[in-house]
Amino acid sequence: MSFYDENNIFARILRGEVPCQKFYEDDDTLAFHDISPKAPVHLLVIPKGSYRSSFDFYGQAPDRLITAFHRFLGLVIEKTGLKDTGYRLISNHGIHGNQEVPHFHVHVLGGRPLGGILDPR
Ligand code: AMP
Repeated sequence: MSFYDENNIFARILRGEVPCQKFYEDDDTLAFHDISPKAPVHLLVIPKGSYRSSFDFYGQAPDRLITAFHRFLGLVIEKTGLKDTGYRLISNHGIHGNQEVPHFHVHVLGGRPLGGILDPR
């Protein structure tokens, strides 16, 4: 597993050192509102374990956690009511992915037409 920075902002949220606007949680996973929303619904879904990005999580986490994470994502989508109108899931990794917070997270975006996948350069 690559280096995990225990002081990243999401690790601090998980330790209760920094507040978040919680949407839903269970023993393994937390969903909270993005502090700088890019759409009417903009949630972040994170595992409670220390995984730097999708690459670490899918490579290192036990199968049970990977399954639980995705079931949790499905539940979050259901709770937002976005299933019928549509939504987008995004997970950034590394420099070209523009990952800012080095704790694996999936953005759940919706509530308006989201347009093309990427902004024009
Ligand atoms: P990424 O570029 O994929 O790493 O996205 C990181 C996201 O975390 C950005 O959308 C930020 O707005 C969001 N973010 C950063 N700090 C916080 C925080 N304290 N609470 C909620 N969201 C945050």
